[in-house]
Amino acid sequence: MNFHEYQAKQLFADYGIAVPKGIVARSPDEAVAAAKQIPGDLWVVKAQIHAGGRGKAGGVKLAKNFDEVAQYAKQMLGTKMATYQTAGVELPIDSVLISEGTDIAKELYLSVLVDRATKSVTFIASAEGGMDIEQVAAEKPEAIHTLNINYVEGLQPYQCRDIGFAMGLNAKQVGQLTKIMTGLFKLFMEKDLALVELNPLAILTTGDLAVLDGKINSDDNASFRHPELVAMRDVRQEDETEVLASKYDLNYVTMDGDIGCMVNGAGLAMATMDVIALNGGSPANFLDVGGGATKERVTEAFKLILSSDKVKAIFVNIFGGIVRCDMIAEGIIGAVKEVDVKVPVIVRLEGTNVEAGKELLTNSGLAITPADDINDGAKKAVAAVKQAA
Ligand code: GDP
Ligand code: MG
Repeated sequence: MNFHEYQAKQLFADYGIAVPKGIVARSPDEAVAAAKQIPGDLWVVKAQIHAGGRGKAGGVKLAKNFDEVAQYAKQMLGTKMATYQTAGVELPIDSVLISEGTDIAKELYLSVLVDRATKSVTFIASAEGGMDIEQVAAEKPEAIHTLNINYVEGLQPYQCRDIGFAMGLNAKQVGQLTKIMTGLFKLFMEKDLALVELNPLAILTTGDLAVLDGKINSDDNASFRHPELVAMRDVRQEDETEVLASKYDLNYVTMDGDIGCMVNGAGLAMATMDVIALNGGSPANFLDVGGGATKERVTEAFKLILSSDKVKAIFVNIFGGIVRCDMIAEGIIGAVKEVDVKVPVIVRLEGTNVEAGKELLTNSGLAITPADDINDGAKKAVAAVKQAA
């Protein structure tokens, strides 16, 4: 689950990390009222969307007076924004964060994540933060410092100092960094997070460190332990079909191809997408209907797949292990009838009672094309799409 910047900063504050004063606003009037409560003569108006890269897309503006605050808030609110991080998707700007403006001397980068290679919670830091951190990582890997945390020992103060001095901070800043890193580590562990990113963590012209941007991603597998995080979810920032899928406990990811896939088991689903690609096609989605491929789940899965008008054919690839193939076939037939599927449906069944399952499909009177194996099914799906075009 992703969080807005204003929510991330609230969580930072809860863990003793100092953040610039900021108030979230949902209208230009609220934005001005917010700015009036924030002392100083410079405010930052920041579009709240589940993506970074806002600066380059016009979603971060410096306002020198209340009129400019209102003007920028008006420009952003109610519109949609795509950044280089949203893969072409436009996210709605329903709120803006009005934040205390600061004078930046230098932008640093600091993040915490789970490093799978070392199986440890890991800090990544760089003195060359800001909007082009991806470029720094690619072209100057020596400017990126990595710190793996021992699971038993936890984060030690000397490790924070090491990172601070490696980034060229002075003693006072290293003290501030230690406080930030300690708070972040505690937050990360207690809330079961997957990623926290401060970019930029800035050195201000006053010489102090300041957390100017915050991004948090939590581990969905631990959501049941964190109702307080689930309450912060903003489904308007999420893919509509994926939100619906999560309601039915279906693992669904939208892709940009035209062959809808319905598969049981994540491994088989990945393999199916690969085989479709090998045959020159492209999948419209990843979908794992799970072990219990009942009629209800198969029906919901068909509805999900068909909610996209990009889908020109559906490839059902199901292995009947625990669930028998004849039961799955009944589920598919019922679902195709109920949902009124108009695109070609190619079905590959394998496993227990496969013959009975195939017979049911053949005798159903529906336009369902049986396939012998995964490759045959993928080929037929690709051919069906070409014919439709
Ligand atoms: P992102 O582009 O979505 O990552 O949004 P950020 O919050 O990181 O803002 C983008 C850039 O705007 C930062 O890298 C800063 O250069 C600038 N910025 C953000 N907050 C402030 C601020 O308080 N003062 C000043 N002067 N610049 C800021
Ligand atoms: Mg940023």
